[in-house]
Amino acid sequence: MLVVMNRHATAEQVEAVVLKIRSLGLTAHPIPGAQRVAIGITGNKGGLEPDLFTTLPGVAEAIRVSQPFKLVSREVKEEDTVIEVRGATLGGRGGLAVVAGPCSVESEEQLLDTAHAVKRAGARFLRGGAYKPRTSPYEFQGLAEEALKLLARAREETGLSIVTEVMDVETLPMVADYADVLQVGARNMQNFSLLKQLGTMRRPVLLKRGPSATIKEWLMAAEYLVSRGNYEVALCERGIRTFETMTRNTLDLNAVPVLKALSHLPVLVDPSHGIGLRAHVAAMARAGVAAGADGIMVEVHPHPEAALSDGAQSLTVPEFEELMLQVRSIAAAVGRTV
Ligand code: PEP
Ligand code: MN
Repeated sequence: MLVVMNRHATAEQVEAVVLKIRSLGLTAHPIPGAQRVAIGITGNKGGLEPDLFTTLPGVAEAIRVSQPFKLVSREVKEEDTVIEVRGATLGGRGGLAVVAGPCSVESEEQLLDTAHAVKRAGARFLRGGAYKPRTSPYEFQGLAEEALKLLARAREETGLSIVTEVMDVETLPMVADYADVLQVGARNMQNFSLLKQLGTMRRPVLLKRGPSATIKEWLMAAEYLVSRGNYEVALCERGIRTFETMTRNTLDLNAVPVLKALSHLPVLVDPSHGIGLRAHVAAMARAGVAAGADGIMVEVHPHPEAALSDGAQSLTVPEFEELMLQVRSIAAAVGRTV
């Protein structure tokens, strides 16, 4: 249930609603909003009687939330969530978020060259994996803390915000020491202990879609974060597993408008993992922006043929520069900027 306060409700009236919710053994979630205060209620097993709250002073209405995901839904919060990261934004009607960089951090030269190049081309976020979830245990697993230090160095030199994956609860404190945005990878979308821990933090999370997750399961995973108080969650569509084998995954662009309608969270598209083929990454990045995504995440490598992971889907620097020109015109066509 969502309790919506009058526009002129006092802080004491809001507090009285929160206390009432707690007295029923339920959890109150005051929702940050520009116009009015609203308080989400979770923890109830069945439906609640609106009268419990509408009789309290300052309450405008009490609305039943029909979706199983509550706090991430547009029913509960109409305005877009806008996440500010060191001057750059994820979500909202402003500029698109462009996250670019190598799949894995491999060396100082590789990372810094890429960082300077993507910054020049207009990216505001630098991606790069320090801990890599590889299908084979014999493949490159990432440089761990050494990579995190290089990412911090790249941030210092370029001012880009750092997006990097956290794979488990054990390494979370260390990754959080360096990252501006904590990426939860597709394979970990339903790692509930990781999600619970991230929910207690006040640090933006980029939650990628599980390869076989439905949109509802994905939003429920986001609910784990938000219900524990971390409202700074962005979603990233990165392709799902289908019967198709000609491409690495099937980028589900349906998810973009559907998520934008169902949820207030920012939605990014990752065409690199979505299609897995360098020659077609740009087309799907453009399509993602045209579909209404709030940003894109693109793998870029100065020498993709020598990359230690995902070289086949990594754009060269000139290819990324060209993509950015195209993205600027598509963005303008859908009323956005880069
Ligand atoms: C990545 O971003 O490099 C990555 C491993 O992505 P995903 O979790 O979507 O496979
Ligand atoms: Mn990758």
